Amino acid sequence: MVSLEPKASCAICSLHGDEAELTSHEVWRSDLWLLRHHPCPAPLTGWCLLDSRRHIGGPMNFAPDEARQWGDVVQRASQLIREVTGCDRVYAIAFGEGARHLHLHLIPRSGDDPRTSAWKIADLYRDVEVGKAKAASIERVDDWLLRARVLAPAFLS
Ligand SMILES: [Zn+2]
Repeated sequence: MVSLEPKASCAICSLHGDEAELTSHEVWRSDLWLLRHHPCPAPLTGWCLLDSRRHIGGPMNFAPDEARQWGDVVQRASQLIREVTGCDRVYAIAFGEGARHLHLHLIPRSGDDPRTSAWKIADLYRDVEVGKAKAASIERVDDWLLRARVLAPAFLS
């Protein structure tokens, strides 16, 4: 049985209840979804997470309205990220292991950055996490967020 209530032990439910933290990284939200930039240290400028507002493990647990909206919101969020970042493509990856709460990684892929090619992106992620590679600068992430928030209503509303 899937719990529909926020879980106290879930990092993403806790984040969704932390308005101060959300203010620094949120791009957009609706009643079902929340789009946010990866917190610092961010592997890349424009690396975002699309969360379900409900505590669910993944698409397998969607309610009918979540299932109907999912394709549309993933497409529009990806288009927003491509527009703001100027990347070629946007990868979509969801494991749901670090937190068992759906958080789809939407990752800007640039042809001129070999670190962002397929599974090399996982190496970059781990290297930034342990301090072996440089994270995106806070100034660039903040600038990205300002531009994304201006454009978000045109893409996601
Ligand atoms: Zn949760």
